[in-house]
Amino acid sequence: MIDVAAYERHQKIEAAYQRWDDFDKSPRHATHFEHGVIELMPVADATRYACKYVNGHPGNPQQGRMTVAALGILSDVASGYPVMVSEMTLLTALRTAATSAMVARHCPRPDTHTLALVGTGAQSEFQTLAIGNERALRQVRFYDIDQAAIAKYAHNMGERNLELVPCASIAEAVDGADLVTIATAVKGRQSLLTPAMLRPGLHINAVGGDCPGKIELDPAVLPACDIIVEYEPQTRIEGEIQDSGLSVTEFHEIARGQRAGRLSTDAITLFDSVGFALEDHAALNWLYANLCDAIDVDLIPAARDPLDLFAMLQPPTPTFRRAASF
Ligand code: NAD
Repeated sequence: MIDVAAYERHQKIEAAYQRWDDFDKSPRHATHFEHGVIELMPVADATRYACKYVNGHPGNPQQGRMTVAALGILSDVASGYPVMVSEMTLLTALRTAATSAMVARHCPRPDTHTLALVGTGAQSEFQTLAIGNERALRQVRFYDIDQAAIAKYAHNMGERNLELVPCASIAEAVDGADLVTIATAVKGRQSLLTPAMLRPGLHINAVGGDCPGKIELDPAVLPACDIIVEYEPQTRIEGEIQDSGLSVTEFHEIARGQRAGRLSTDAITLFDSVGFALEDHAALNWLYANLCDAIDVDLIPAARDPLDLFAMLQPPTPTFRRAASF
């Protein structure tokens, strides 16, 4: 069992952002379908190569499946051999929450106590707990179009010393909030957060707009914000900024102390989160270092002669023959 709080405490993701120049980076490879997307997310440093396979199919819950499911692979750079294949559906929720919390360490105002949560699906509890590790949350105001998702969230988050306030609209949820996490899953251009909902000093953690043509914020919100992104070349394709030429700050500049997360008390900060492979690299390496229930699987044939792979197709050389007279 992975402890969300322990994972966040390790701060492996921020440490990876501090080593930004050590990584071979590229925007992820996305294959789009009518109902969703399948993405491959590779990244490497001098020691380890990591790649995640992940989908995003917002209609899946109606068919009894999750919107996001993932698998990860971690390889040894020196040999090119994989060292671990892992589930990454849970690990993605953990690393996405840890990434939100990492930014929440730097960007919201110090007196942040009220979280508004728009979308109470699979990511929502992870987001709440991880941000709650960074900020002294007292109240969570939450909204979802699905009453069952609201009830599920209230059940999972009960008895945690948080005042839970279910709301009847996004505007009601955001009203009075210091930090807004928005994590809905709709394949399309939504306008869920509008300029009228903004107030000075707000921090917006925008998680669900992560594909071309899939955004959550009214574009008129963007010019009012100081925008933080993970990796600009990828976010320009996939994030809230996909149709905007606005300038942005890559988070590694903040992680490396080159600029502050918050430039003024009244600034509205926006983390335009899309999910970057570096976070998966950190998560997979953390998992590899803390493995307790792993199963050894022979994924790579152990050829006796490394140049004679063909021999592995042959029946084993007999070492014993019955005597003809037996
Ligand atoms: P999910 O399908 O489990 O939950 C989405 C929730 O949003 C559902 O409960 C749905 O009812 C709700 N919703 C839809 N439209 C809404 C609206 N107008 N107002 C309020 N609620 C609404 O999905 P999930 O796994 O929780 O993921 C949420 C989003 O985050 C997805 O878009 C996913 O692609 C994205 N995501 C991003 C990252 C990242 O790194 N940035 C990582 C994982 C997932």
